[in-house]
Amino acid sequence: MNAWFEVNTQSDFSIYNIPFGIFSHDGSSPRIGSAIGDQVIDLRAVAGLGVFDALEINKKVWDSDFLNPFIALGKSKTQKVREILQQELTKENSVLKNNDQVFIAMSEIEMHLPVQIGDYTDFYSSIHHATNVGKLFRDPENALLPNWRHLPVGYHGRASSIVVSGVPLHRPMGQQKPADSNPVYGASKLVDFELEMGFIIGRESKLGQRISTESADEYIFGKVLFNDWSARDIQKWEYVPLGPFLGKSFGSSVSPWVVTMEALAPYQVPGLKQEPKVLPYLEYSGHRNIDIKLEVAIQPENKEETIISRSNFKYMYWTMQQQLAHHTVNGCNVKIGDLMASGTISGEDQESLGSLLEITQAGRQSLTLTDGTERKFVQDGDTVILRGHCEKDGKRVGFGEVRTQILPAL
Ligand code: MN
Repeated sequence: MNAWFEVNTQSDFSIYNIPFGIFSHDGSSPRIGSAIGDQVIDLRAVAGLGVFDALEINKKVWDSDFLNPFIALGKSKTQKVREILQQELTKENSVLKNNDQVFIAMSEIEMHLPVQIGDYTDFYSSIHHATNVGKLFRDPENALLPNWRHLPVGYHGRASSIVVSGVPLHRPMGQQKPADSNPVYGASKLVDFELEMGFIIGRESKLGQRISTESADEYIFGKVLFNDWSARDIQKWEYVPLGPFLGKSFGSSVSPWVVTMEALAPYQVPGLKQEPKVLPYLEYSGHRNIDIKLEVAIQPENKEETIISRSNFKYMYWTMQQQLAHHTVNGCNVKIGDLMASGTISGEDQESLGSLLEITQAGRQSLTLTDGTERKFVQDGDTVILRGHCEKDGKRVGFGEVRTQILPAL
């Protein structure tokens, strides 16, 4: 595809991407946009030119402050919107060409939370991450718990505190238990990031209905970057026996652009070998991992950033289709806008670890940043940045970034 629109080859938002998000401009109310290069495409303005008329989409959809009503149109229409945008951006006589109502510089707009998230579930599906954590806290010889290779372990998280890139979070207060004293109340000393990706549910299922691995793709609208913040000291004391709670729910951060499964399809790769063989409801066919290059940077306040990890979504052991099949095998229903996160994505090497917990061996070692300062965990004023993109045959499809500053405790 040759776009008449000039796009830098290093841009995540090429003609092959066409993601969806929610933006506002000059104090306007939020509405739906797409992205090309360094420009936002105002889809209300595009719709006003009649470009989507054949799809008979209610005008109100373009003015929504979340993507949910757009996603609810169904893939038959949302895929068409993306294809029409690609056609308009490549055809010479397009009505979009040189139309300054349609394009707005990204530097001039504000991005908002892309979807109204009803429920948020976090999985634990990277085998290297689960093995590293098991070695640190349990048994180096038997790092994985007995269930791990049989089902995608997960827990129900908190949706209300999920924020979009750019929204700072305060270091949480809470209970911690020093090894040699009674529990204390105070600011967490061990704030950590988790390099994750999330997928957005694009179709509702009914209570009692199971979604199979084969039909799962119909229920997945697209993906985002996800930083699943953790206060390791609060978490360590509280999580027995029911699992993560306040050490997680103080905040999680998502990237603003939802990249569709159609845009990611060319980058699918075979999944990891699963041994032992999974139960039949978790079997799947085809290439269901995705080659998405991921990186994490820490930027101390008013300093330059240091890239501290390079990982890849293809290191996932359990696929999204298996996660969804497992999530609904008991009849639990899913809704449009629900967010399912991967769990921390770590690779095999020291350079590809998805949390400071693993990078610093739970604070036993420290990490030196380019400004010479050392980190064991995230400090006040630090900004953590996650980025991700796919690249093949000179075609790049990316997510931009999710960037979050940690402020002092309130
Ligand atoms: Mn997590």
